[in-house]
Amino acid sequence: MKSSDIRQSFLDFFGQKEHTVVRSAPVIPAEDPTLLFTNAGMNQFKDVFLDKGSRPYSRAVDTQKCIRASGKHNDLEDVGRDTYHHTFFEMLGNWSFGDYYKKEAIVWAWELLTEVWKLPKERLYATVYTDDDESLGIWEKETDIDSGHIMRFDEKDNFWEMGETGPCGPCSEIHIDLTEDLSGKELVNAGDHRVIELWNLVFIQYNRKVDRSLEPLPKKHVDTGMGFERITAVLQGKGSNYDTDVFRPLFDAITGLTGIGYNATLDGEQDIAMRVIADHARTLTFAITDGAVPSNEGRGYVLRRILRRAVRYAKKLDCNQPVLYRLVGVIADTMGDVFPELRKQQKTVEKIVRSEEESFLVTLDRGIEIFGEIIAALRGSKQTRISGEDAFRLYDTYGFPLDLTRLMALEEGLTIDEEGFDTCMQEQKERARKDRKQKQQIADEQGEWNWFGKRARTIFLGYETLDTEAKV
Ligand code: ATP
Ligand code: MG
Ligand code: MG
Ligand code: MG
Repeated sequence: MKSSDIRQSFLDFFGQKEHTVVRSAPVIPAEDPTLLFTNAGMNQFKDVFLDKGSRPYSRAVDTQKCIRASGKHNDLEDVGRDTYHHTFFEMLGNWSFGDYYKKEAIVWAWELLTEVWKLPKERLYATVYTDDDESLGIWEKETDIDSGHIMRFDEKDNFWEMGETGPCGPCSEIHIDLTEDLSGKELVNAGDHRVIELWNLVFIQYNRKVDRSLEPLPKKHVDTGMGFERITAVLQGKGSNYDTDVFRPLFDAITGLTGIGYNATLDGEQDIAMRVIADHARTLTFAITDGAVPSNEGRGYVLRRILRRAVRYAKKLDCNQPVLYRLVGVIADTMGDVFPELRKQQKTVEKIVRSEEESFLVTLDRGIEIFGEIIAALRGSKQTRISGEDAFRLYDTYGFPLDLTRLMALEEGLTIDEEGFDTCMQEQKERARKDRKQKQQIADEQGEWNWFGKRARTIFLGYETLDTEAKV
């Protein structure tokens, strides 16, 4: 099955069960100050869960563009190193707003996976929240899952929350064992690529408040999320999301640009680099398409860090020219039918990405050289910790975000004095504040003088202009 057919078959399955097909919300949340990026399908329905808004339907299905690179859900550091966490991914989801609850959610998920998509039952595991006997009972009685494959997990894995506050509740998840000999039971929720989480069925019944208390909601809701790239890998018989037709065109393009092939190893340096570049190009393309711009703060700085990280990985493929912007068109071509905004914004996104790449490339080589000198000096004195001052110099003069330096340090088996870095940052902010204050003071003192000066000058210029015009 092609990935586009998989997406469609999910929408159709729930469409037949009276779910309204809705569009993905933008990856930049419109009205939610608690989120930098949309991190789950349920974000756009937060108002419904909290009883502050409503929709003309009580069941919905969609594919949602998600970014997990900041805040409570941040997978940035896993990208490239594993085969199933992306910073940008699509989340397939079905919802009940005060309509059906646990039983239908579980039974339908099982039906889709095992009857429509025919996944082997012996490979599937269901997890439930510690004390959620109701869900456990439904799995046992209403499905034909092997009862030895139902497992209880605590808050960390089976109580879902979108952020520090907001709608939340216990969840029941489906995981798949991809080991050859079906020995993966111990690996459920262990962060191992051989047993991965496919689908999360969340039973939204609380609102987490700022004081951390849980407020019961007036109605109970279902909120599910399945990783589209993960289910595609499973249904296409691939061990990695990156081996599917979702990523293939991107890898082909990277190979075309660099002359380097993808060998799909887990720890080969260039394979990691290719995965990171493909992932980050998607994140940048989708985020900028939806209106974000790389900058020095907040959401924009998350994007700038992602971009700089990708540019530095491109170095591992011997790229000294901007390449990311050349992947924007590949993404628009392959995903533009589902997300037409990509085609509309393609030129703008290319321009922004290219200029960001160009500006970082100006200082990157020199920064890498300085980094080399720093580690040579450390090795000479048998130390393993990069000082806060050095990390700050790389940040301030060469544009290296701290997480990039941390990553480069990690590759060399080194750490960074991050407290020292923070101190330098604070000191610089303080200097900048004083500087601003001083400039303001001078401006204030000169204000009166300037005002008169400007006035006199304007009058003078006026005569001059008239004079000139008269001469012409
Ligand atoms: P994991 O434990 O693998 O990190 P999660 O528990 O953080 O996943 P959920 O918040 O439950 O994920 O999201 C619902 C589904 O979205 C997951 O079951 C998974 O299929 C998918 N998903 C989550 N994070 C990612 C990611 N970074 N890249 C791709 N798919 C993801
Ligand atoms: Mg996660
Ligand atoms: Mg999980
Ligand atoms: Mg989960």
